[in-house]
Amino acid sequence: SRRQAAFPPTLTEQESILANSFDNNTISDWSYYYTHGDHIAGRNRSQAQWTADRWSENGFTSSLAEYHVYLNYPVSKSITLSYPNGSSYTPSLEEDVLPEDETTGYPNRIPTFHGYSFTGNATAEYVYVGRGQQVDFERLVELGVPLEGKIALAKYGGPFRGLKVKNAQSYGMIGAIIFTDPGDDGNVTEANGYAAYPDGPARNPSSVQRGSVQFLSTYPGDPTTPGYPSKEDSPRADKSVVTPSIPSIPISYEEVIPLLAALDGYGTPGNQVNRTRWVGGLNVTYSTGPAPGAVISMSNVMEDAYTPIWNAVGVINGTSQDEVLIIGNHRDAWLIGGAADPNSGSAIMIELSKAFGRLLETGWQPKRTIVLASWDAEEYGLVGSTEWMEEYIPWLTGSAVAYLNIDVGCSGPRPSLSATGDLHTIAVETMRKVIFPQGEAMNETLFDVWFAENEGVVGVLGSGSDYTSFLHRGISSLDVGSDANPNKNDPVYHYHSNYDSYHWMATYGDPGFRVHTAMGQYLTLLAYHLVTDDLLPFDIPNYAEQMQLYYDELLTVINSTSSQLDTNELLAAIDVFETRAAEVVALQQQAQATGDAALLEGVFQHVLFAPGLDTGYAPVTYPGITEALQAGNVTLAAEWVTKTANGILVAANILKT
Ligand code: GLU
Ligand code: CA
Ligand code: ZN
Ligand code: ZN
Repeated sequence: SRRQAAFPPTLTEQESILANSFDNNTISDWSYYYTHGDHIAGRNRSQAQWTADRWSENGFTSSLAEYHVYLNYPVSKSITLSYPNGSSYTPSLEEDVLPEDETTGYPNRIPTFHGYSFTGNATAEYVYVGRGQQVDFERLVELGVPLEGKIALAKYGGPFRGLKVKNAQSYGMIGAIIFTDPGDDGNVTEANGYAAYPDGPARNPSSVQRGSVQFLSTYPGDPTTPGYPSKEDSPRADKSVVTPSIPSIPISYEEVIPLLAALDGYGTPGNQVNRTRWVGGLNVTYSTGPAPGAVISMSNVMEDAYTPIWNAVGVINGTSQDEVLIIGNHRDAWLIGGAADPNSGSAIMIELSKAFGRLLETGWQPKRTIVLASWDAEEYGLVGSTEWMEEYIPWLTGSAVAYLNIDVGCSGPRPSLSATGDLHTIAVETMRKVIFPQGEAMNETLFDVWFAENEGVVGVLGSGSDYTSFLHRGISSLDVGSDANPNKNDPVYHYHSNYDSYHWMATYGDPGFRVHTAMGQYLTLLAYHLVTDDLLPFDIPNYAEQMQLYYDELLTVINSTSSQLDTNELLAAIDVFETRAAEVVALQQQAQATGDAALLEGVFQHVLFAPGLDTGYAPVTYPGITEALQAGNVTLAAEWVTKTANGILVAANILKT
């Protein structure tokens, strides 16, 4: 129905200059550069400078923005399982070095560990806690499984890993071990007959997911400077509000098997626990345990650091300097490689700067200022982007027209897009202008592939990447990338593992870097329209429509809790917003007809999203109301109905009074 776009897409002259400047070979070169050096947060000044230099060559005025933040780095760690019979098992906790993949063997490769993890020892019997979500722990309590004083063995997947540790800690557990399970790799598993990386597309059994265990969803950024920027002399808050007080260690599926197997036959067998994805793909029963006398000793040693981090920032001034578009991607990685996360985005950003450089050479100048950002310390907790936002809150809330994020620009062939409602229309329309590879074939647009993959639905932003601080300060935001789905037989993406390497990307993830190219052309054309079009291509009525959709979901939540909550006030506010939005559209049309953009001054929007308290990554809409209801607090939910309705009314009135 919506598929009547021309093929190949028709582009204007300026759009063609931008799109045609993209070259898959140079993107591959940028990827190669980023994936062959240490760029963990706070240790990547040279890559920050290199990024700024490339942007400068392409016509951006570039510099480094430095912050002084709290990070910690791994020193040593160990896990030993002692069996009741006196024997023991000690996993290596390291990933295999692969001769085919040189960076996996670099002497300065980064050990497996959890960012912001706690330095400490724990010795205790242990319990398998599934994905470690609040409901998993509630179920364990119901089953009478002892938690207090035990060590938690949790599976990756579902909630953000930091919340797994937080939940374990709040149930009185004294340590946490988090493992990757091949049951989350869809069809593409060794058990299913696929060869493992580097010989094939399945997961390498020794792969380990590193990652931050900050308690995301309290506040993002440096744990010691909530709400204000981290300067060398900034006052420091107590970090234990958002970082764990129990040690945690990540482990591979190959090495967790003996830990799980020792619980077989103890506690409740996995198939009787009845929790989402409790049973995984390994040949064990996923029993809760504990197994009497089976004791884990774990030790985790981290080194605290208050250290500089560097955001690279590049600027092209617009003719109207009070409007700014920010395009950002993080640069730090847990690995030497990080070919997908974040260097697919980083490589695309260099090529994007080149494209705008070509356009500048023709004498073009954008109407709105373009700011490129290469964030540091995203991995620890969105630190670089948050500290920068916190330093420039008044400027950014007043001037930013939108924030476009690209993080994992490519880990596979399936494009995905999430954005605030006002950006949906321009974001979707721009997809029609880009050719997207389908294996060797180049006969579909990005729109076609995205539409088929996502049924035409733009996602809701949650958290987990650098758009978070912008979104939550009310700035229109968008996140774009292309993902792997092993349920559809895509090669398994080794997230936060040494095998997210250049070799993996060039062999399995995006041979030829053509998905990178398409995603880069897309981001560039989208940015071009946001900085060039006389009238900002925002679809405000769609914002009202999205609010109505979230409202319908809220009604489902209310019904599921069978509470009596009156939400008419909220509905009335949405109606007011809808009316104002329609009035703004009329003004937009008038402005277009008369050429008088001043008619539209002061267009604003309101934040309706939050990362879920219990999910971290996944969004919750109308979070105040929804989460109060889920906690069984109807009084609080009613207060939030009023607060939310008032917020929407404020937005509606700023939209147009
Ligand atoms: N993207 C990183 C992760 O998923 C950091 C997320 C965050 O701290 O919000 O581990
Ligand atoms: Ca801060
Ligand atoms: Zn990332
Ligand atoms: Zn990451």
